[in-house]
Amino acid sequence: MTRRKIALAGIGKIATDQHIPTLASSPDWELAAAVSRHGRVEGVPNFTDMDEMLAAHPEVGTVSLCMPPVPRFAYAEAALKAGRNVMLEKPPGATLSEVHALENLAREAGVVLYATWHSREAAFVAPAAAWLKGRRLKRFTVTWKEDVRKWHPGQDWVFEPGGMGVFDPGINALSIVTAILPDPIHVTRATLEMPENRQTPIAATLAFHHPQGAEVTATMDWDHSGDDVWRIEAVTDGGTMTLDRGGAEMRIDGSVQSAGDGLHGEYPRLYAQMARLVEDGRSDVDLSPARHVWDAMTLGRRKIVAPFHW
Ligand code: NAP
Repeated sequence: MTRRKIALAGIGKIATDQHIPTLASSPDWELAAAVSRHGRVEGVPNFTDMDEMLAAHPEVGTVSLCMPPVPRFAYAEAALKAGRNVMLEKPPGATLSEVHALENLAREAGVVLYATWHSREAAFVAPAAAWLKGRRLKRFTVTWKEDVRKWHPGQDWVFEPGGMGVFDPGINALSIVTAILPDPIHVTRATLEMPENRQTPIAATLAFHHPQGAEVTATMDWDHSGDDVWRIEAVTDGGTMTLDRGGAEMRIDGSVQSAGDGLHGEYPRLYAQMARLVEDGRSDVDLSPARHVWDAMTLGRRKIVAPFHW
């Protein structure tokens, strides 16, 4: 089968860590161009301007956007208006309305828009959803703690408006939560810890309404030293299930199943899904994880904490 041509834009940490190696061994995609103001990809034509790449490479039918959410909209708009399919890194946008605008553009252009959630592709997300189905939930606890200096070294955009702060990783947890919980939940209470010199929270706690009255909470911390904690625990009338390491491990009443390192296999599965969506001419834009973040930002009580320095 011939591989479809794709361009990558925003060559930084996640493009280098995941997208480039994934595309290099993809059975579906051939990396045909890159767009980045400073980054480069060896072995393909490199551009610093999106419009120039789109004009020079009409054979590139799909563009995958890896830059942060705030600047991403203009790149997505340009690609969709040029009739290309677009794949968005998470979170899909800085605001609700801009993602809706992209959905409309994709519909008008007859192309595919895929808002990816890489954490949903973790090995045990689907098994966790299947296990929870039919069980009565009593308590559901999300604990998401990591060191921003490890995953976003020097990336000031995460603390700028639209950067989402601790919700940049926290939204990964929420993408799993919204994929595995059978019932809809919504935020009822939140606290946001704001470093006095920054615009976005470095830690947050959330409480949710659950239709059957289960206690649903989330604790997120981005100033955490030691090992990453990416854990979701569900206590039900039929036992306790823990998803650990971001969904790469599942424990049911003490019995553990594990699948490689965190992030393992997530990006190959995202690109395989994009190939299926393009084949079917179908978009996939689920904003439910981002909605919880935007709700928490609206309802959250701000607590000013010590300044953050890298
Ligand atoms: P990053 O390295 O800071 O940014 C990626 C690239 O985007 C930069 O190298 C830069 O390339 C371009 N860029 C940055 N600011 C820009 C601007 N204002 N206008 C245009 N281009 C800009 O960030 P990242 O860690 O790769 O994260 C990017 C996205 O991937 C985020 O949405 C993040 O949530 C998601 N993600 C990150 C990770 C992770 O581990 N870091 C994991 C999963 C998902 P040029 O300067 O060359 O244009």
